[in-house]
Amino acid sequence: MKRLVILGATGSVGRSALAVVRRHPGRFRVVGLAAGRSVAALAALAAEFRPTRVALADRAALDGRPELRAAGWRTGPDGVAELAAFPSADIVVNAIVGAAGLRHTIAALEAGKRCALANKESLVAAGEIVLDAARRGGGELVPVDSEHSAILQCIGEARPDEVRRIILTASGGPFRDLDAAAMVGVDAGMALRHPTWEMGAKITIDSATLANKALEVIEAHFLYGLPYDRIDVVVHPTSIVHSFVEFVDGSVLAQMGEPNMELPILHALSWPRRPPDRALCTFDPLRSSPLTFEPVDTERFPLFGLGVEAGRTGGAAPAVFNAANEVAVKAFLEGRVSFRRMAGVVSGALDALGGRTADSLKEILEVDAAARRHAASLV
Ligand code: MG
Repeated sequence: MKRLVILGATGSVGRSALAVVRRHPGRFRVVGLAAGRSVAALAALAAEFRPTRVALADRAALDGRPELRAAGWRTGPDGVAELAAFPSADIVVNAIVGAAGLRHTIAALEAGKRCALANKESLVAAGEIVLDAARRGGGELVPVDSEHSAILQCIGEARPDEVRRIILTASGGPFRDLDAAAMVGVDAGMALRHPTWEMGAKITIDSATLANKALEVIEAHFLYGLPYDRIDVVVHPTSIVHSFVEFVDGSVLAQMGEPNMELPILHALSWPRRPPDRALCTFDPLRSSPLTFEPVDTERFPLFGLGVEAGRTGGAAPAVFNAANEVAVKAFLEGRVSFRRMAGVVSGALDALGGRTADSLKEILEVDAAARRHAASLV
């Protein structure tokens, strides 16, 4: 029996994780749940899963709910951080959106937990610091991101020097076929209609701009210790092949399945074992064919190139890219910048701040805040 804490329990990945737990009651038990501000949804989950501890990041969200305070609910970022290092948990699922999840990834790893990581921004903003927290605390980082789960499954027992390159797949998002002129007029409603994956708003916009794939290249760099010239990306519109690994002997392995986050979540909770689960749709070669692949169009999706370049630059650049992108996405969702202007906001922040170094968590948090201010001024 593995005891789980789920951070971001009311979001898309959190709800998928709880769906997995419902099907495997003898395998997983929820001991902690945390959310941002969705009080009613979190209260319903707490009543169903009966965790030992519940936390809500937004302090004001409990106003008018004295019974939840009386039940021991914690509030504020420190309440959530406490849950990330909860002594009776084995696995912390970090499904918080954005750099706000960074401190919880570090807390879980320092406390020696398995961190099932959906919060890719942790590794993008502070990859070396996160890896160091795992080394110091004895924690273990296992990806929930479907592409990185695929890579983990394909790599198996191979050593890093036996991997020639990894090839991440990208769906291409809803604007894969739109020409540059038509992309000027797209709005948030259009960008939120993802062709293959059902996800939260932030990652759905990141998938439409391909910023998500740049974040995933950086995530893969840190998870698998590969230099950027050994990480490639191809567009694969049906999202059946979740990624490829090419080995030094020329063999290429792929992991396949219907696009559904429950499979990579189950894998992150169970790895290296595979529990039976009949509810998850498997790959059917006849129904899924043809599988097609095409190159990324970096002209139409400039955030992809900006993000990968930030990864190559290193130092503060990935944290600046991530923070400015979060600001740009929020502004786009609120109708304050156009789809194409998001890249301008991010590149402006990178020009101003991307050359800085940031070796400590304190410096990362400072540069994150500075990048948010700069990006907001450009919005
Ligand atoms: Mg992904």
